[in-house]
Amino acid sequence: MSYQVVRINPTLVSRPDQPSVLVIYTGGTFGMVYDQQADQLVPFDFERVSERLPELGRLNFAITLLTMPTIIDSSNMTPAVWVELAQLIQTHYEQYDSFVILHGTDTMSYTASALSFMLMGLNKPVILTGAQLPIGMARTDARENFITALEIAAAQENGRPLVPEVCLYFNSRLLRGNRSTKQESVQFNAFVSENYPDLATAGVSIAYNHPFIRPYQPDDTLRLRTSFDPNVTILKLFPGITQPVVESILNIPGLRAVVLETYGAGNAPTDSWFLNTLQKAIDKGIILFNVSQCEGGRVTQGRYQTSKMLEQIGVISGADITTEAAITKLMVLLGEGDTEQVRQQLAQPISGEMVI
Ligand code: ASP
Repeated sequence: MSYQVVRINPTLVSRPDQPSVLVIYTGGTFGMVYDQQADQLVPFDFERVSERLPELGRLNFAITLLTMPTIIDSSNMTPAVWVELAQLIQTHYEQYDSFVILHGTDTMSYTASALSFMLMGLNKPVILTGAQLPIGMARTDARENFITALEIAAAQENGRPLVPEVCLYFNSRLLRGNRSTKQESVQFNAFVSENYPDLATAGVSIAYNHPFIRPYQPDDTLRLRTSFDPNVTILKLFPGITQPVVESILNIPGLRAVVLETYGAGNAPTDSWFLNTLQKAIDKGIILFNVSQCEGGRVTQGRYQTSKMLEQIGVISGADITTEAAITKLMVLLGEGDTEQVRQQLAQPISGEMVI
């Protein structure tokens, strides 16, 4: 299947002094319009986006729109699509100064996290955005999110991009992609980054938070990690969780790693059946990665007795990582490394996803 490509401001493409942005459209609420006959929201013909957003023509940089062969609701996102996105960025890396990915909000933080681990040595902006209200509705947030994401993607100083990393822009805030979480399905403020400051705030002008943005590395070259190991899962604790539930999850054939969603600062029950079950899994070589159910704060194994035991049996602390970053980091690292190497890399930040 082929990609549909449309150029906006084509005369600027050949001007080397003007930034050029490649927009990759994957689907989501963003591109929906109301079909009166069918009385439902349907995907619109994205090649005609300029009719909906004539403002695009007023931006003084070149924009190329590429539509994925299959437009999806992001609930259908898969690692295979992440690989396709990373490869598209690699294929067009020299041709464009930056990339904007239009994506459904539901799994946008997972995609941003996955790409941050896949695009090693990235030195150009990759900004994900979308909308809570379809572009076809009068009060849509698609317009502001898209136009500002484009401006941020194109922003340069002395020929260097201002934000050379994978980010998520939404509702006036630019977040580090692998620090973001979808927190809201109704209001416009869909995303938060509880454990890392915003990289920029868009008001009358766009204020960049330079000390927190990954610095441009002149000698970096893009390399991709594209192998995923899907043999991972998330186990969220709750008072009353039973032994058969924990045992059946940890005995899934082929399972290699579990994000253990614990309470507060990384705490879990101290019942012997629970700790013994975890211990047996670790002895079999299964990685247990401790991530808090709290959005803000961090796992500090050993602070309470209820987390010291986890530390003692070999559970790895996820510090202040999000669940989205934890599960994608596991899939990417397990895809290319042996379990011991993965254990070491998990405990360290590899793409700004955690502070230890
Ligand atoms: N279900 C939609 C999606 O994630 C929601 C959205 O785009 O806001 O694709």
